[in-house]
Amino acid sequence: MKKFILFIALISITTESYCWGFYAHKKINYLAVFLLPPQMLVLYEPNIDLLSEHAVDPDKRRYAVAAEVPRHFIDIDHYGKFPYAELPHKWNDAIEKFGEDTLLAYGIVPWHIEIMQKRRTKAYKEKNFASIMKNSADIGHYIADAHVPLHASTNHNGQLTGQLGIHG
Ligand SMILES: [Zn+2]
Repeated sequence: MKKFILFIALISITTESYCWGFYAHKKINYLAVFLLPPQMLVLYEPNIDLLSEHAVDPDKRRYAVAAEVPRHFIDIDHYGKFPYAELPHKWNDAIEKFGEDTLLAYGIVPWHIEIMQKRRTKAYKEKNFASIMKNSADIGHYIADAHVPLHASTNHNGQLTGQLGIHG
């Protein structure tokens, strides 16, 4: 496991892109399939290449859809100190407390993952294969982004500590 984490860290350093980079996002979605319970594996393993290939779709949308940008990060330290008890878990409560403009400015990835989960659950209920796969590939991307340390800090590019450009 330590070798895998080091491998991913090295890839993310050498890849010019947002987040993990395209190669790592594809690999993360690919490997995540093998962590699923057997009941889900029968659906996901035969479609592992599709899930891997589309792991980067959310980053591709960043270039075309302005609303996409804040879905990939949260500068959580803007909201105080760990464990961020002041930050509401529910989107509507967070809007009421901080305002939507502030939430969008500092990123919304945790709440967007919840939206993606609801979309995927709806797709399961409708037995909509295309929607299940699309939303599964997307949620894998957003969960991976939520685990990028520099996607969870206001100092996401080293601009506050004289390390400008560290994200790249
Ligand atoms: Zn992303």
